[in-house]
Amino acid sequence: MDVAIIGGGTTGWWAAKYLEKKLPKTTNITLYEDPDTPAIGVGESTLPQIKTFLEECGLDEKNWMPKANPIIKKGTLKKNWDKVNGEECEFTFWYNDEYRFETWIEKYFKGNKIKNQLGSDLYNTDGWRLYAYHVDAYLIGQIVKDECEKVKHELTRLDKLPPGYDLYLDATGFNGKFTIDKTSTNVEDHLVNSCWAGNLQLTGDPFPFTRVTARNAGWTFGIDLANRTGLGYVYSNKYITKEEALTEFKSYYPDAYDIRHYSWTPGYLKNPWTDNVISIGNAGGFLDPLESNNLFMIQLSITKIPDVLLRNYKPETYNRLLNRTWFHVSNYILHHYKLSNRIDTPFWKYYSKFNVKESVWQAYQFHSNKYSSIFPNSVWANLALYYDEFTYYDKYKHSLG
Ligand SMILES: Cc1cc2nc3c(=O)[nH]c(=O)nc-3n(C[C@H](O)[C@H](O)[C@H](O)COP(=O)(O)OP(=O)(O)OC[C@H]3O[C@@H](n4cnc5c(N)ncnc54)[C@H](O)[C@@H]3O)c2cc1C
Repeated sequence: MDVAIIGGGTTGWWAAKYLEKKLPKTTNITLYEDPDTPAIGVGESTLPQIKTFLEECGLDEKNWMPKANPIIKKGTLKKNWDKVNGEECEFTFWYNDEYRFETWIEKYFKGNKIKNQLGSDLYNTDGWRLYAYHVDAYLIGQIVKDECEKVKHELTRLDKLPPGYDLYLDATGFNGKFTIDKTSTNVEDHLVNSCWAGNLQLTGDPFPFTRVTARNAGWTFGIDLANRTGLGYVYSNKYITKEEALTEFKSYYPDAYDIRHYSWTPGYLKNPWTDNVISIGNAGGFLDPLESNNLFMIQLSITKIPDVLLRNYKPETYNRLLNRTWFHVSNYILHHYKLSNRIDTPFWKYYSKFNVKESVWQAYQFHSNKYSSIFPNSVWANLALYYDEFTYYDKYKHSLG
């Protein structure tokens, strides 16, 4: 089989290495990369599943970590989502084995626990998916590229698909240059669609949590690497202008350098695999970078390709799985905004009309499988606790018997 991958960002190189490993040895893979269009250069906070993916690509953290300036990520620190000047809340990678949350929360209800004890009390050091990484956005693609053994690399900009291949992967980023069916699920409640990003010199030890702070028309992130901090103000251009967003960004980070702007149309493709072209990475979908979902979605969209090819599944099976996971991602992200009590700006007023008091606990009940859910029930429980939203808890909690 001959496979062409178009795009030399994180998506393209991750796909090249993974397919090289998992498809039969007779497979020929060529990766085309436009030398004049750099990779996007953001995407530095990850979920624990990345560890498994890199291992499956043949990269052990002992070997790749010294090359990529990463740090171990213990979780996310959220602030101001529930209310202005709210308390910081830790989201760590704990798992709700045997419904330990049900026991813990009774102590919280009685006043014997505070919110920020949840993550450490229930963290299980023997568990799987214990931590993630903050990684350099460029290097996380390059370290995988360096492991490719027989991928042919063509530095050229393509205007049409090169003939002669059995399968094409469109990894050209937001532009989705070779996507056949552009029909997209555009979830209109995803208001954020732009970002000012930059870097900051690191002072002191890197902080092992991704900081995500709600702001006037979106949220900011701060991601410490071993040698610098990656920053961004993710905002909705329906509520503030690009210039206003830049002013706000600079007011939070006056010393930021290397400032860049990004914009996108939130949505994901209904048929990412059409005929013999599969759109992956930003070409396949992008909603909101909250909760590091994108690198996970890239991982998923790549790892399912050999499954489909080697088991003779239909592309529809692939498309259904991707759409189902995107829906889950969208739902989890939107609960951050819709559970908020903020009404201090028009952006937050928009979200105040939604009532998701029940759906947060429905999701808790539904996502009980920690292996198959990107955001399992522990994550939903943590979110509800952050917002102190327990109206429907009794209806959906697990009965401990
Ligand atoms: C503001 C922001 C913050 C983010 N933060 C996170 C985060 O913290 N965690 C996370 O998981 N994700 C995050 N992401 C998402 C993440 O950055 C991307 O999903 C990831 O980098 C993958 O990008 P890509 O490889 O699909 O596209 P790109 O990096 O854009 O690469 C596209 C490639 O295609 C090539 N190309 C384009 N056109 C052609 C052509 N015609 N011919 C040949 N080659 C071509 C280019 O040269 C380039 O190599 C963030 C995204 C944004 C916008």
